[in-house]
Order: sequence, then C-alpha cells, then structure tokens
Amino acid sequence: MKKIKIFDTTLRDGEQSPGCSMDLTEKIEMARQLELLGVDVIEAGFAIASPMDFKSVQTIAETVTGCKVASLARCTKGDIDAAWNAVKGAKYPRIHLFLATSDIHMEYKLKMTREQVVSAISEMVAYAKAFCDDIEFSAEDASRSEPSFLARCYSAAVAAGATTINVPDTVGYSTPQEMSELIAFLREHVAGIDEVDLSVHCHDDLGMAVANSLACVRAGATQVECTVNGIGERAGNASLEEVVMALKTRKDFYQAETSIHTGQIYKSCKLLSSITGVPIPPSKAVVGANAFAHESGIHQHGVIANAATYEIMNSSDVGIPQNSIVLGKHSGKHALREKLSSMGYELSDRELDDVFARFKDMADKKKHLTGSDLEALILDRRHAEASGCQLIGHVINAGDGVPNTSCVKLRRNGEELQEVAIGSGPLDASFKAINRMLGMEIQLDNFSLNAVTNGEDAIGEAVVKVSAENSAIYTGTGLSTDIIEASIRAYLNGVNKILEAAAQVPGKRGEHGNDDDTEDTGPPRGASRGAGGAADPGKAGPGFGKRHHFAGSNQRV
Ligand SMILES: [Zn+2]
Repeated sequence: MKKIKIFDTTLRDGEQSPGCSMDLTEKIEMARQLELLGVDVIEAGFAIASPMDFKSVQTIAETVTGCKVASLARCTKGDIDAAWNAVKGAKYPRIHLFLATSDIHMEYKLKMTREQVVSAISEMVAYAKAFCDDIEFSAEDASRSEPSFLARCYSAAVAAGATTINVPDTVGYSTPQEMSELIAFLREHVAGIDEVDLSVHCHDDLGMAVANSLACVRAGATQVECTVNGIGERAGNASLEEVVMALKTRKDFYQAETSIHTGQIYKSCKLLSSITGVPIPPSKAVVGANAFAHESGIHQHGVIANAATYEIMNSSDVGIPQNSIVLGKHSGKHALREKLSSMGYELSDRELDDVFARFKDMADKKKHLTGSDLEALILDRRHAEASGCQLIGHVINAGDGVPNTSCVKLRRNGEELQEVAIGSGPLDASFKAINRMLGMEIQLDNFSLNAVTNGEDAIGEAVVKVSAENSAIYTGTGLSTDIIEASIRAYLNGVNKILEAAAQVPGKRGEHGNDDDTEDTGPPRGASRGAGGAADPGKAGPGFGKRHHFAGSNQRV
C-alpha cells in the first residue's frame, strides 16, 4: 500500500469561493477540525493577501500541532517573507510557492520568457529554503504547460530544495487520461523526483476534479490537494471526502491509503457548511442527506437482507449520526456526554454545561431528540460563544391587514436594550428594531431557511448575508424550532461579525468576488501586486478587503 498525503486547502482556495469567507474564529475552529480529521497539511491562507489573512495563517500555525501548516506565496521575496513570518511559529511549517508555466500565462500575465521563469523558480525556491526546510512548488496552469518545459521547471525547483512539487489543473481543463499521462511523464523526466512528493491540485470546472486526482494517484502522485465539500474557486476543488472515500472503498484498485480518520468526515463537512451557511446538496456523494437513503422497494428489501447488496460504504464509516431517537427530556448530562462522544464530539466540562442547558431547553419543546438535533445544538454552540449581542427575547404581532410589529430585547456589554419597530412582515420589523437599537444601517443581502432535522417539530436553520456601509458581507446563521427566533438569531450572528470585524481592524475584507481569478493560485485578494510595499502585510493600504485590479502583475518575479 502506498501512502497518499492529503493537503487540505479549504482555508485558502476554498475560502476564495463566493459566499465562503470565514472570520478568524471560524478559521481556527475549522483548522482544529481538520487536525482531528487527520489531514497531512493545512494550507491556512495566503499570508501576503491582507493583514487578516496574515493573522489567520499565523494563529493557525500557532494552534495546530498535529499536521503541517502552509502559507501560499508568489515567487517574490516579499511574499516569501510574509509567508515565513506567518508560519514560522508552526511545529511543522511549509512555504508553498507558485509561478505560472503555461505559454499563455507567461506571455500575457507574467510577461516573462521561459528562461526568466526557470531562473525565478531556482532563485526563489532557494530563497525560501533558507528559512524553511519544507518547500512546495506549484507550476500554475501546469496541465496547459508544455510538458518538457514543465519538467525543466520542476527539476529546477527540486534542485533548489523543493520537497514537494505540485501539478495544478488550474482551470479545470484536463481529463483523467491526460492527467495520468502527465504524471507518468513527470515521473520519468523530472530530475530527483523520487526524493520528493509529487502532488496534484485539480479544479472541477468540468466535473472531473476527483476523477483527475484519482487518475494521478494511479499514475504515481503521492499527495492530493483538496477541500472539504469541494469548495474553491469557480466550480471548486477536488472534494476531500470523495477522494478519501474512493481510495478507501477501492483500496483493491488504487493500492493506496491515507491517514484520514474517516469517522470525522461528516462532522468536518457539517461544520464547514454551518460556518459558511452553504448547505450540503442532498445528492452530494459521501455526505449528502440522500447518500445512504434507499427509496426503491427493491433496494430497501435488498439492504434489509444484506446491506452490501446496494451499499458500498457504511454511513457510520464517515461518521453520519443515526437518526433514531437517542435522548429525551429526562436524559441526564452523563447520557448526553456519552452520546456526543459516540458522535465524535469531545466537549470540555464548560462546553458540556452550555450544551446541556440548551439541550434541556430543546427537550422541553421537542419530545424526542435525534442525532441530527444534537448535532444542530453542537454547531449552534459557537454562535452563542461568539456573540457580542445576545438575544434575550422577542414578541411579534403579525398578521394580514394590520401593521406587523416586533419588540426585541438584547444584551450588549452587560446592558439590556429593547426596541419596538413596525415592518412589512415580522422579520422586517425585528431586523429594523435591531438596527435601531444598535444605531446601524444593516443591509440584508440574502435570507434562507432550511429544516435541519426531521418531523413537525424540526429545527430550522436561518442563514442571512448581511453588510453595513463599507463592510464586507457576512454570513449569519441561527437555529431554533421557532423560525422567527432562528431568523433573529441568524441576523444577530451576522451583525455581531460586522461589529467584531469593525473592532479588530480599521478596514474589513470583502466577500471574494469571482471576477478576475481564472487561475488557481491567482492574484491574492487585496495584495498590491507587482509594486513594492507588499512585503509587510501590516502595511497593506486601506481598504485591503476589496479586490484590487492591477495591470502587469508579478513584474518583480
Ligand atoms: Zn486552486
């Protein structure tokens, strides 16, 4: 069995997907979960991109000890300095350098000749190597690069000290056959290839990211780059859970294994979904709500007789909680701890007290609690903790033909606030009351409501996208068996993020648009490209949260 390393880029490439930006607390929570999941490398961000990116890479580097922590960097000294300063506190730091090698990127984006590209790789890999032993080099747009030139670039990177070379299908253009042939070619033609890891990074523009990654494993790749739920630029990256479960389920075929604790997969996917407010599609492979559901009578009959008739994996292998009734209002704290532990959640005493209080509250409203209910309670925990403003209560007077009014009571910094407002509906009235209390003009950009558990007393999850003037767009989520309460909680959660960001830094980062980055490890958000002064992330100018458009990028490389 050969070992395949899992390089997770949920917090870097994944976070670049529209609607998936995360704040510092959320990134740390996700990084801790990735550590539990057992990934080999966490790409924590792109340190030079903004002070917030730098800070999150640095904090993750200092928090995570069970796996490597990488920062992305272009081939410039400023980028490498920032990357090293951000990851140097890690137990196992890695600097991940990239430079484009396809003719189209070299000519139009880099405006560099082949010779200049090769010497920049040698020089910058050697520069980074002086700081850090563990260096990964990615040839951006590798799959559209001329293979013999690509092999020359990788040989130069290995000679200068790279310990991993990565082959990105940056624009998601390649097919499994072509990727497989490219990997086989590189295994033959890159000098020193046997001494380093050969990695792949595939995008899903044509729906082939996972298939491409797996074809590369067959052809000799030893590391796969992927993201939880397959999030990432444009159509996303290869999905971690699909790559891992394909390797595990078809071990006979791939003759390869990973060190992922598959029982943590579902929990990781749900956590990310709860942070970003982007639900997991029902038919999503491995973790979708329907992935293990059997509707047809013939299938049901077969599964009852022997699960292997129609099931190639067990839902318990990926940690999906069983939806049978597990606890009720008379269950004690010990039973709750046991049950949560069996679902993969280990809580401290303080956390358990908090969850138990809300468990009792929910058990009063809902007779029987299932695994999904408990999961919802756990995922809601961070909202309670992160809150700057807490909801104390609300009264709604709503109907048709009468003014809809809402009275909302909050606690902020120990002080109780209360306000009444009239609106076009109960939610509009509630949101207006909150805005008035806080003296803020909050814009509601998006609102959705999903049932996260089953039955008529299901728990509803509200997801909002909110922004204030000159602020980024933030995702807020809230859970309750009462949809109005869930919505108010979601709104407050989003507003709290706006307040927190405003308190932390003078500027705020924007939700990443999907505009100019057609390439993989594209120009960083908000970094001043090509010009000097980008070396010190603390000095990136005002408004660093917005995407900047610079002509002639990477001129310094
Ligand atoms: Zn990418």
